[in-house]
Amino acid sequence: MSRTPLIAGNWKMHKTGPEAVDSAKRLAQLSEGVADVDIMIAPTSLALPLVSQAVAGTQVRVGAQNLYFEKQGAFTGEVSGDMIRAAGAEYVLIGHSERRQFFGDTDALVCRKTRAALDAGLIPVVCIGETEKERDEEKTFFVLDKQVSDGLKGFGLEEIRTLVLAYEPVWAIGTGKTASVEQVEEVHRFLRKTLEEKFSGALAKETRILYGGSVKPDNVKDLMSIEDVDGALVGGASLDADKFINIIRYQ
Ligand code: PEP
Repeated sequence: MSRTPLIAGNWKMHKTGPEAVDSAKRLAQLSEGVADVDIMIAPTSLALPLVSQAVAGTQVRVGAQNLYFEKQGAFTGEVSGDMIRAAGAEYVLIGHSERRQFFGDTDALVCRKTRAALDAGLIPVVCIGETEKERDEEKTFFVLDKQVSDGLKGFGLEEIRTLVLAYEPVWAIGTGKTASVEQVEEVHRFLRKTLEEKFSGALAKETRILYGGSVKPDNVKDLMSIEDVDGALVGGASLDADKFINIIRYQ
């Protein structure tokens, strides 16, 4: 089963347009010759066209951090999938825990946004994960099952194969706490099985499942050695291209 690993950088609300272009160009230069790994960076929406132009023809792909599910209309402040695609992006993050926590993104909204992303020809990176409280209360698998069931409700097999799932335990994001290899192994195995049961075996085996949460150059190798880990979603450590490249070149 071949699943090309994806190493994705989430730049959150960092970097102006020119700063994002500089970092993206540096990353493109450093990643020349990287083989068998897909690379993606997600700058702010404002920087998408500039960054997409800056990395055109290189190995670096571009993603947005969010989208709205409507195609167009009176939705002040929002950005549609078509707009993101026209700006040169190929991916979009959906349901990041910061969106869920601060902007009210629910599983139902995640589902509509994922549909909109696929309709616009984007690859959705659907983020799921439990909070510290949920883990302490042993609700991790219940929470993840619900996020997958409700967030991916109604999707076809081909769609499930196209999208990327990112397991991001909320307690590990931006905290410096990384989930242990055993914890990640257990969850990713559970997620693969869940996809297989809900969407039928063979194709679900091709869905990429990323891990995210304080991934750094010194822990990426161990995380990537886990069978069902198909890449990483990286926040803080993706901001500096010279650091991020050491995650991308984990092998
Ligand atoms: C993220 O924002 O998706 C993330 C995983 O952040 P960090 O790597 O900083 O924990």
